[in-house]
Amino acid sequence: MSSSVALRLPSIDGLLRHPACAPLAERYGRDSLLTGLRQLLDELRPGVLNGQLSAVEIGAEVLAGRVGERLAQQQRSQVRRVFNLTGTVLHTNLGRALLPDEAIEAVQMAARYPLNLEFDLASGKRGDRDDLIEGLIRELTGAEAVTVVNNNAAAVLLTLNSLGARKEGIISRGELIEIGGAFRIPDIMARAGVRLHEVGTTNRTHARDYEAAIGPRSGLIMRVHASNYSIEGFTARVPTAELAALAHAHGLPLLEDLGSGSLLDLTRWGLPAEPTVRQALLDGADIVTFSGDKLLGGPQAGLIVGRKELIANIKKNPLKRALRVDKLTLAALEAVLGLYRDPDRLAERLPSLRLLTRPQADICAQASRLQPLLAEILGSVWQVSAVEALGMIGSGSQPVARLPSAALCCRPQVSKRWRGRYLLNLEAALRALPIPVLGRIDDDALWLDLRQLDDEPAWLAQLPQLQVDR
Ligand SMILES: *Cc1c(COP(=O)(O)O)cnc(C)c1O
Repeated sequence: MSSSVALRLPSIDGLLRHPACAPLAERYGRDSLLTGLRQLLDELRPGVLNGQLSAVEIGAEVLAGRVGERLAQQQRSQVRRVFNLTGTVLHTNLGRALLPDEAIEAVQMAARYPLNLEFDLASGKRGDRDDLIEGLIRELTGAEAVTVVNNNAAAVLLTLNSLGARKEGIISRGELIEIGGAFRIPDIMARAGVRLHEVGTTNRTHARDYEAAIGPRSGLIMRVHASNYSIEGFTARVPTAELAALAHAHGLPLLEDLGSGSLLDLTRWGLPAEPTVRQALLDGADIVTFSGDKLLGGPQAGLIVGRKELIANIKKNPLKRALRVDKLTLAALEAVLGLYRDPDRLAERLPSLRLLTRPQADICAQASRLQPLLAEILGSVWQVSAVEALGMIGSGSQPVARLPSAALCCRPQVSKRWRGRYLLNLEAALRALPIPVLGRIDDDALWLDLRQLDDEPAWLAQLPQLQVDR
């Protein structure tokens, strides 16, 4: 298809003056529009030169439309809300705990106005940001003192470095764990300047193993909650109280990294038992560390609680300054902790606990309600069924415990060799929705676990936009 008259791209000036571009300049600014137009024209130039493009394709209206789409795309935030229908409630890759309204309001206040972050309003003197939440955490855990840092990884690093640098840290071989995102206990110990002294075996460690390791170079004994795996069968582990007694008899502190930890006994809500911070302290741990955004249900933070003189030591470490929390986190944390004062209403008010305790019957009813609607949208290629499913808490809490839930299970009715492709396409189509929907592929089907589908209207409203092979 060759035309005798060579086509020419419109000039930048001409385009900028064109009525189709005026609203774009207004909306995105002249500089962004100019950059967008230049890029587009550069991309089109080769096509014009070899005669592959028609006059319509390089008309001002069409070009304005294409630049407008691009600018809109660029302006869209990279941080996006999603629907977490993976079945894992505290999903590290999806931001873990959701904050309660009380915390969101506190964050807004802290973001909008100056506040007494490090200022003691009673004395008018300089204050310490930890003081803002120390009282609450002491009340809720029974700890003597408290300090808060950026996350639990930071809490472990800071504690190890403060209490054990240039000394040996004694730890059971069964607790040398790796947590997602390259947090490995041996590596953190090394970075903290603590020499690892591992004792016992993977499945069994006895008091005599710890005892034999204690010597003049010992700095601390550490215990780590095996968050994301479980050792079953022929196992032995020294109870915390016994380990604490042993440590104290030799003048060593016992550090316990609880990982998720919990402020309350979760079995009262029918959830699997997690060690509580209060119990670890009662058993004699001198320092306990745990996350703010796992079972606690708050913002990302690392809480370090325990004996006063050890906390004082930790707060003096210059690393504390590098790992400290910001005002938004502190504001959210205080609000979340405040809810723990009334455990009877906690499951209504704290989103993570509300979702974790949502009754299966409720989720099943929702699945039955949504099944025909999704089946209709997906068409006859897909068999959609409302089925019981098993989810998990996530974030290293109870790795083997399962939460009875319900899901929409989507199976492509195509021959085996095509199934994988269909499933990946459906997964991608769900991710391409305005609020991306994330499920999980398992056993030749795509599962949408509904435990966390709170905002059903928003989910339903965007379904007709799903572009899927029918
Ligand atoms: C999750 C976890 C950590 C890391 O906590 P973050 O808050 O993610 O930094 C450390 N130790 C244990 C045992 C954990 O489970």
